[in-house]
Amino acid sequence: MASETAPLLRIEDLWKSYGDEEVLRGVDLDIERGDVEVLVGPSGSGKSTLLRCVNRLTEVDSGHIYLRDVDVCADDTDPNEVRQQIGMVFQDINLFAHLTARQNVMLGLRRVKGMDKDAARTRANEELDRVGLGDQTDSYPAQLSGGQKQRVGIARALAMDPEVMLFDEPTSALDPELSNGVLEVMAQLVEEGMTMLVVTHEMRFARGGASGITFLDDGQIVERGPPEQLFENPEEERTAQFFQSIS
Ligand code: ADP
Ligand code: MG
Repeated sequence: MASETAPLLRIEDLWKSYGDEEVLRGVDLDIERGDVEVLVGPSGSGKSTLLRCVNRLTEVDSGHIYLRDVDVCADDTDPNEVRQQIGMVFQDINLFAHLTARQNVMLGLRRVKGMDKDAARTRANEELDRVGLGDQTDSYPAQLSGGQKQRVGIARALAMDPEVMLFDEPTSALDPELSNGVLEVMAQLVEEGMTMLVVTHEMRFARGGASGITFLDDGQIVERGPPEQLFENPEEERTAQFFQSIS
């Protein structure tokens, strides 16, 4: 039963190993509707693995992930359904090179949502407009900057009408000036009230846009709280060390 008070996304005692290596060790995380949770932690701490589990790109060993009342990890839950409701933007920008920006966005609308061509085209134009690429709809990926390609990726995810958006270091492959356009789009999504779980080293975004920060280290959540707490007044020594090391 869906409950009025249940979080939109609930991650419960999640465990994941690769061979002998325990990558996630009992992660619990609740995300309320409209939350913008920024996930930080050292390289190899399990951030990408956590996001991949939520998007059902990686199978968990034990624990649960619920999107409202849907058990994301259940055998009878269709991963493709999950991926419509939980959009994901990756560090590596994976557009189809032989398709224009619009065609890249249209693909899911046609194949997954089953829209006819005209409706998909209109919707793709709208989503590209939303990410500031209304004048690039006919461009091929090779004609776009890294930041523009990343924004096409965001438009493609948004076109599915997701309830939650996951971002895995969306700007870390980009030059600083190209990051800005992507960060502006993410800030706009925050304004629109989108529920987001964001892995990023962009502390400006974290300070300005996050409702909460989660610090993950060695597969465990060390500390979670509002940005002021984690940045200015962390309860854990390890958190303080981490923020010192990246500032
Ligand atoms: P982060 O995103 O925080 O840098 P990851 O989740 O990518 O961390 O990786 C956590 C650990 O899991 C790393 O030690 C990494 O090498 C390992 N790992 C991630 N994906 C795989 C995989 N598909 N196979 C084996 N090991 C993996
Ligand atoms: Mg990662």
